[in-house]
Amino acid sequence: MIEGVSEEVLNLLRKDSIICPRCHTTMDFSMETESFGNGMKKVTTYYKCSVCSYRIPDMTIEIYRYNGSAKIKLNGKF
Ligand SMILES: [Zn+2]
Repeated sequence: MIEGVSEEVLNLLRKDSIICPRCHTTMDFSMETESFGNGMKKVTTYYKCSVCSYRIPDMTIEIYRYNGSAKIKLNGKF
């Protein structure tokens, strides 16, 4: 989990619950974080079904740290 900034972003991005197309269970909103050596972090958000593990990609968020400030780039559908 990335400190502070990404949690706020994710709370803003969190959408209404999505229903699994396979088994009609409410899907969980989740995320993965990758860190790169140059100070960039990439966050991938997705919805995952806890019952059948069906996964729907949501978007990727790239966070660059530069001179103590963070720059955020969003990719995905809105
Ligand atoms: Zn399912």
